[in-house]
Amino acid sequence: MSSLEEFCAGKLADLEARSLRRTLAVTERGRAASALRLRAPLEQRELISFCCNDYLNLTQNEDVKRAANDAIERYGVGAGASRLITGNHPLLEDLERRLAKLKGTEAAVVFGSGYLTNVGVIPTFIGPNDLILVDELAHACLHAGSQLSRADVKTFRHNDLDHAEALLSAARPHADRCMIITDGVFSMDGDLAPLPGLVALAQKFDAWLMTDDAHGIGVVGGGRGSTYAWGDEVRAGDVPLQMGTLSKAIGSYGGYLCAAQSVVDLVKTRARSLVYSTGLPPASAAAAIAALDFIEGHPDKCDMPRQKAALFSRLLNLPDPQSSIVPLIIGGEEETLAASQALEEEGFLVTAIRPPTVPVGTSRLRFTFTAEHEDDDIGRLVEAVRTHVFAKAAS
Ligand SMILES: *Cc1c(COP(=O)(O)O)cnc(C)c1O
Repeated sequence: MSSLEEFCAGKLADLEARSLRRTLAVTERGRAASALRLRAPLEQRELISFCCNDYLNLTQNEDVKRAANDAIERYGVGAGASRLITGNHPLLEDLERRLAKLKGTEAAVVFGSGYLTNVGVIPTFIGPNDLILVDELAHACLHAGSQLSRADVKTFRHNDLDHAEALLSAARPHADRCMIITDGVFSMDGDLAPLPGLVALAQKFDAWLMTDDAHGIGVVGGGRGSTYAWGDEVRAGDVPLQMGTLSKAIGSYGGYLCAAQSVVDLVKTRARSLVYSTGLPPASAAAAIAALDFIEGHPDKCDMPRQKAALFSRLLNLPDPQSSIVPLIIGGEEETLAASQALEEEGFLVTAIRPPTVPVGTSRLRFTFTAEHEDDDIGRLVEAVRTHVFAKAAS
């Protein structure tokens, strides 16, 4: 065995022993809320998925699929180059105008994915003499983008405004520029960031506030995202950097930043993951535009995933959810894997979430709800959770 293979085999054995090894299960997406999981090559099983981020079921929407198909027929499958060369298809600019309109900003820029957006955007504004404050539970790619900037990066305790203020008081005077970075809707916990308080801190300390609304767009604030979930307490201009993904409620693929024109113009000339990466395929943009048509036309539909999550939570006496995501923290890795397996045997797909995606000791089942989940299926899921998770924890 080569030293490379020896290193990898050793690492894998260590992860396996700690129930932290991850493997890819082959899964086909089916009608609305179902997922066809292929285990052994021939053993197929249709499960009802409570772990997709396809909150409005738009990956399967006929209008969205038709828009993507038409774009492929007309323009082919790939962009063929970086946007700064020949990959800047007119559909990308249409999509950017639509995103800016939805978010109430002057402009928007789309990237190849949400991850690429965050690792590209943050180092565009922030460098070695600057300061970044980031929520400890913010998504991995916000931490990655922060590290790439080589700034002084400080994490504040989750949603803890007092801790953030203390860090700012101590470090802000020594920094040139400063950003405060948070998920708008937290991906593994489903709670909202306290935007009114963060906006006030950003103003007090001259910091630029950036929200990652991967799980907000299409779901909270009437579909317009977390900035709009606070009524009069937060105005559009209060969050100068509104980022998100096209791959969750939008049902397509890609990422975006909505901001003022000069901010977007600088990103388009400097963000390395935009400049040195191929443009989004035209069909992905066409699908996203059709999805935005749906969201703008059905603001009431956008609240359905949260309502389904609320039904589930009510039946299990869990706190009322702020989004479509409900975590059930179990603790250990092995127990969490066993609970996920037991639910799968009952016909429900709920993936176990383990470190390092979540902090050590907080492994969990993370339930996500979509507009088209049936109340009866949610009822059966609740029974299965009572039997396989709550009864086990009590015994
Ligand atoms: C999924 C996710 C991303 C990454 O988006 P992709 O388009 O899948 O790369 C970024 N931030 C958060 C909070 C996410 O949940």
